[in-house]
Amino acid sequence: MPIYQAPTRDTRFVINEMLRLESYAALPGFENASADMVDVLVEECGKFCAEVLAPLNLSGDQEGCTRHADGTVTTPQGFKQAHAQFREAGWGTLSSPEEFGGQGLPHVLGFMAEEFISSANQAWGMYPGLTNGAVSAILAKASPELQAKYLPRMIANEWLGTMNLTEPHCGTDLGLIRTRAVPNADGSYAISGTKIFISAGDHDLTENIIHLVLAKTPDAPDSVKGISLFIVPKVLVNDDGSLGARNAVSCGSLEHKMGIHANATAVMNYDGATGWMVGEENKGLAAMFIMMNAARLGVGIQGLSQAEAAYQNAVSYCADRRQGRALTGPVDPAEKADQLFVHPDIRRMLMDAKAFTEGMRALCLWGALQVDLSHKAASDEERQAADDVISLLTPVIKGYGTDKGFDTCVQMQQCFGGHGYIEEWGMSQFVRDARITQIYEGANGVQAMDLVGRKLAQNGGRAVQAFFAMVDAECAAARSVAGLEGLAGQVEKACGELKAATMWLMQNGMMNPNNAGAGAHHYMHIMGIVSLGLMWLRMGAVATDALAAGTADKAFYEAKLVTARYFGERFTPDAGALRRKLEAGSEAMMALPVEAFARG
Ligand SMILES: Cc1cc2nc3c(=O)[nH]c(=O)nc-3n(C[C@H](O)[C@H](O)[C@H](O)COP(=O)(O)OP(=O)(O)OC[C@H]3O[C@@H](n4cnc5c(N)ncnc54)[C@H](O)[C@@H]3O)c2cc1C
Repeated sequence: MPIYQAPTRDTRFVINEMLRLESYAALPGFENASADMVDVLVEECGKFCAEVLAPLNLSGDQEGCTRHADGTVTTPQGFKQAHAQFREAGWGTLSSPEEFGGQGLPHVLGFMAEEFISSANQAWGMYPGLTNGAVSAILAKASPELQAKYLPRMIANEWLGTMNLTEPHCGTDLGLIRTRAVPNADGSYAISGTKIFISAGDHDLTENIIHLVLAKTPDAPDSVKGISLFIVPKVLVNDDGSLGARNAVSCGSLEHKMGIHANATAVMNYDGATGWMVGEENKGLAAMFIMMNAARLGVGIQGLSQAEAAYQNAVSYCADRRQGRALTGPVDPAEKADQLFVHPDIRRMLMDAKAFTEGMRALCLWGALQVDLSHKAASDEERQAADDVISLLTPVIKGYGTDKGFDTCVQMQQCFGGHGYIEEWGMSQFVRDARITQIYEGANGVQAMDLVGRKLAQNGGRAVQAFFAMVDAECAAARSVAGLEGLAGQVEKACGELKAATMWLMQNGMMNPNNAGAGAHHYMHIMGIVSLGLMWLRMGAVATDALAAGTADKAFYEAKLVTARYFGERFTPDAGALRRKLEAGSEAMMALPVEAFARG
């Protein structure tokens, strides 16, 4: 049975010591996020996830979801009870607005909970997780009446939500959507069409499910400019809030898939179902992006979460398993063999995972703080700056975070040798579950294009220039910190590669858009390396100060500094290689005719 223990010490380090959440106490919602309160929430949430959700992960994977002959869908044993406990404890309401029954705490704490939940049980976590995306769109765009009707019960997780974008013939290219929304006399719409791959599309956790559905009205332009967003409840809700008749929406079937077996991925049939428009007609794409941006950050966290869970299991296995001798001579001569830990190649994989997960956790939680500041910072300038940076880095957190998250799971599986390939150890599940994170919420190639094609150029490159200035300033400051000079130089160099790659894209991507497309993936990864480098500089500075001040937790801070050094040595050099690949352009990549790919 795989193990999981929430990384509470590291999380508290990031929130209290690196972000210093307490220092934002003057902002609304932050007043209740004292360091003591953070400690309690982190520990309690970690305990819930380890004790209630993690034990259901392997069994949920093996059992999967079932669609019954009458069309109902059930989740694996224990899922419903876990949901009831989750609701009772209020873990889903941490950073939701108080106006609708949430706790109004910073998103930093909501993201903390998302990581723990997803590490413990990604498939289970997607039921409330998708609801968060749906809630953010309703909050931003729905009428006060719709908000009052749906938000309190969605935020309380009494009803869960879904996001219905994908259709059989269209995933990335949503302009091709065929689902129709025909106006009814009473202001509602009749929604008809088929959606596929809908996560948490049907289940038995709650008595109602609130679907957010993209569809086109009869006279809408047949492109992305003609998409509108609708709320379509599984069970209609009466004006007094009681449940009414069953709506004309049903689960046609469940997909058989590689991972996240315990999450019901459904084909949803809308047969004239009653829906209500969210926001303006034909402006569904903008509403959808609010939903998608929240969800993309959530998926980036999923990448981290699977890497973390896989890492913990690999660490435990490498301590127990003995094979061969250390290259420098036996470490445990009394034993017949040494621990796997003695082998540098095993260390390489474990240190890669440690440097990635700790850096990525810092990036996700700092990103969450930017989400908070984009709404709550005191001045317009600060709000704008926070919005710029999180909008720039959202595709990086999603794309780089899940690419590296999946790679890390594979490497942790590798530490197990053949046993990693055997289901009962659970490593196969981490790999299978992590794989989807690279695909859904916009495949990672599309994230890279969002970064290169949209985010870089927005507002004359204001966000990326501000990012460069921030990294430069922090590298310059770290150069004078004893012990951090090396890392500062390495991150500065990686940022130099990023700047050069940006310049190359500006010059060559305009001339030939295929050059931008051909280098987008590499660019996203360089920016991921630099972003993690920035986090390691900050964590290194905090650790240096703690050690200088004298701390009872010396081993923790010393390990931070060693891992920071490892990151500088082993991650940052890739930025140069990636830049060279990017600068190779698209010529050879695009030269062959399609027929040349076929084997004769
Ligand atoms: C388990 C699972 C759960 C899901 N949950 C949901 C859900 O809850 N709601 C929902 O609406 N959808 C959901 N999806 C759908 C998912 O978001 C899509 O599968 C994904 O967005 C990709 O769309 P597609 O599968 O149609 O691939 P395609 O769009 O056909 O893309 C195929 C490949 O081509 C690339 N590509 C396509 N267009 C471009 C382009 N313009 N530039 C560069 N590369 C491009 C893509 O990156 C990808 O690698 C889920 C899918 C799965 C498998």
